[in-house]
Amino acid sequence: MKNEACQFDSCRFSRVCNHIHCIREGCTYVLHSSGQLYSHKRKHERRDAELAYRTLNESRNGLEIVIEIIGLNLNLQKMARPPVTTT
Ligand SMILES: [Zn+2]
Ligand SMILES: [Zn+2]
Repeated sequence: MKNEACQFDSCRFSRVCNHIHCIREGCTYVLHSSGQLYSHKRKHERRDAELAYRTLNESRNGLEIVIEIIGLNLNLQKMARPPVTTT
């Protein structure tokens, strides 16, 4: 597995060392261990969440949608944790 020719033409790590390319669109990050893969994946997830939140705020009636979602979350929490009935 080591020192394989990289499928990326302009890769400077090709045949040099084991590495992983991030395949996310617009990301040219190169990872050198599976441990980095996990933290880098989380970085993308966090960015995606921020992006989705920003898009929501910029959209028409964005605030109402956010309030609706917050209300929905509260309802879901209530449903997930039903009130304790004492006998
Ligand atoms: Zn490469
Ligand atoms: Zn990436």
